[in-house]
Amino acid sequence: MRAPIDTERLSAEIEELARISDSPYPSVTRVLFTEADMRARRWLTGRMEDAGLAVRVDAVGNIFGRWEGTDPDAAAVATGSHTDAIPDAGRFDGVIGVLGGLEAIRALQAAGVRPRRAIELIMFTAEEPTRFAFGCLGSRVLAGVVTPERLERLRDAEGRTLDDARAQAGVSGPIPGARLAAGAYAAFVELHIEQGPELERTGVPIGVVTAIAAPATLRVELTGEGGHAGAVLMPERHDPLVAAAEVVQAVDRLARASGSPDTVGTVGLMTLEPGAVNSIPRRVRMDIDIRDTDEARRDGVLEGVREAARAAAASRGVGHSDEVLNADGPATSDPAVLSAIEEACAESGLTSSRMVSRAYHDAVFMARICPTAMIFVPSAGGVSHRPDEYTSPEEVARGAEVLAGALMRLSTRL
Ligand SMILES: [Zn+2]
Repeated sequence: MRAPIDTERLSAEIEELARISDSPYPSVTRVLFTEADMRARRWLTGRMEDAGLAVRVDAVGNIFGRWEGTDPDAAAVATGSHTDAIPDAGRFDGVIGVLGGLEAIRALQAAGVRPRRAIELIMFTAEEPTRFAFGCLGSRVLAGVVTPERLERLRDAEGRTLDDARAQAGVSGPIPGARLAAGAYAAFVELHIEQGPELERTGVPIGVVTAIAAPATLRVELTGEGGHAGAVLMPERHDPLVAAAEVVQAVDRLARASGSPDTVGTVGLMTLEPGAVNSIPRRVRMDIDIRDTDEARRDGVLEGVREAARAAAASRGVGHSDEVLNADGPATSDPAVLSAIEEACAESGLTSSRMVSRAYHDAVFMARICPTAMIFVPSAGGVSHRPDEYTSPEEVARGAEVLAGALMRLSTRL
């Protein structure tokens, strides 16, 4: 049974949501609990209710829409993604997982399907880290992988706390209570744009995501004596930037030498003090991003970089400290969920290819609490987080059709 996706309705809804934004179309800006985010939440809630879903909101603002199954005691099958958007972003990232999920449910309803397990659509709060420099807020809370102390320390650019922001948005209740019990969901499937070039290049309409890479962020600080660029002669120098240059080389070398193309290492941020052309740097701070689909391999590169930084500091006679700011584990997809997606592809006559996700998603955290996998659809030119991000209505509809097929299988069979 192929679910009858309404391509035009889905596309029209994506366009309508794109216009609820703090930047002019086709640019989208929807930051957590701003006016635009709140309007989008109200609009989405209305659409969920129109589809007959029972809507509830948890203490961190995750929105759930539930389509009851014939067996109310069985754990539900869930799908969803996010609708928040970084400043000047596009209209498909996250959105197609929410509106595509809604359309998948409506298509199953139209086909007369009565799922055994309930199917829940989730709009996760703040997948993007824009406001509090903290990504996947909603899914982290659901998975219970963030402490209340960490949440209390969060501040936005204006110094507001998460509690201030929640209160302004009318979202309340104890956040730890939003954590899902083990077994709350039988499975989770997230539909998302690829945000990379592979599907478009190979002409394959559906990507089946077997693993999601996760970044570790390492901060290294190197300190020297500084001094006048003319007065301090070379034999007397302890220049932390020269040591930092060795660390940059080590990040590149160790990531390349890991043995897998899935290992990537980047130094994307470096700050110098005092930062003048005629001054030897006194302090260098560098933030290093190391990602992989394999946690042990990633952590091996991370340790190698820490060791290289210690050695570079010692050989240049400069001070050294480091801190691992974040090291979430990568996620591996569940074989039963992968099969459900691939069977749905076959039924719809769509080719698919297995691939890894190199960007972060809420599915990383859902994978910790239930069997999870993701469906990718092509991104034109691999472009994302830009106003010209594009996936055609037909491509989005194919993803929604496969999602519907996977949800039906998981909700009746599992
Ligand atoms: Zn996203």
